[in-house]
Amino acid sequence: MKTIYDYNYADLETLFLSLNQKKFRADQCFQWLYRKRVSSFQEMTDLSKDLIETLSSLYCINPCECVEKQVAKDGTTKYLFQLQDGALIETVLMHYEFGESLCVTSQVGCNMGCKFCASGLLKKQRDLTSGEMVAQIMYVQKELDQESKRISNLVIMGTGEPFDNYENVMSFCKTINHDKGLALGARHITISTCGLVPMIEKFSKEHVQYNLAISLHAPTDELRSKLMPINHAYPLHQLMDSLRRYSEENNRRLTFEYILLKGVNDSDENERQLANLIRGMNAYVNLIPYNQVDEHGYKTCDAKTALHFYDCLMKNKVKATLRAKHGDDIDAACGQLRAKHERG
Ligand code: SAH
Repeated sequence: MKTIYDYNYADLETLFLSLNQKKFRADQCFQWLYRKRVSSFQEMTDLSKDLIETLSSLYCINPCECVEKQVAKDGTTKYLFQLQDGALIETVLMHYEFGESLCVTSQVGCNMGCKFCASGLLKKQRDLTSGEMVAQIMYVQKELDQESKRISNLVIMGTGEPFDNYENVMSFCKTINHDKGLALGARHITISTCGLVPMIEKFSKEHVQYNLAISLHAPTDELRSKLMPINHAYPLHQLMDSLRRYSEENNRRLTFEYILLKGVNDSDENERQLANLIRGMNAYVNLIPYNQVDEHGYKTCDAKTALHFYDCLMKNKVKATLRAKHGDDIDAACGQLRAKHERG
């Protein structure tokens, strides 16, 4: 059954008009869903009985069931959800000083085939609907409501390539960002892409304030093509050109994600190449410790090398952050928990 979470505010108004309802009823319904966070249509007490019946016969609210929850020592929590067709997806909640950050999944599996990533171990089965993405945040937010906590940051960095599911991801962001709903500020929403250039071009023209993060992971075509097959389709000069255009048109700072892989992309030479690629752009590099994935054989770069890489970048006039590791003691890498389940 389709979830009502699939409808962003504008779509819900259109739906209600098609059901011969006034627009303001859609507004009421939206607020029941996202402000009061009800779990059934019956709780929407200012809607007529008939309307509640109609909605219940056409839609569900929550389209997923939590089948496993792992909590790491640092509080990082990983949820494994089962969707109505049996597909399994992961969502991760991380606690930071600045608040609660949720990492959501955008596809069942992924076709990008990055050589270090657990997600690609299972090919893409399908895109998630926008409602299935909304459901991930609503499930966790409802749990946090009991502790009077609020998700303050959303990153679309779970399994899947968000720009390979562009329309649904944009609709999802609209719902989460809407001021009558969760009202999560656009600048607190980050979309991460492996670099689908045509979609970056499209995103540039939307002039929305969501943050854009690029999974770079290598400073040369030779190395990047080895790690990320997408680089064959959209090599670095095309990617960087499209990002410069995005920056100019939107006046937004970009994030480059760079996983440090021991002996692969963490040398002094790699650092200089990276600095030369990025210097002068309105951007910073987020250096990410690698969560080892047994099947791939890449190793996490040691802390000393990571710090040295970071220092050199800063000296070379590229802003960088060195991200702390989260959820090390659980299957926190993208797709790890799910891959384990699917293999049994
Ligand atoms: N497809 C999108 C979003 C999902 S991946 C993208 O490529 O950006 C989110 C981020 O996690 C990416 O930067 C990805 O390269 C990184 N990642 C994947 N596997 C990882 C692992 N095992 N350890 C650390 N980061 C990983």
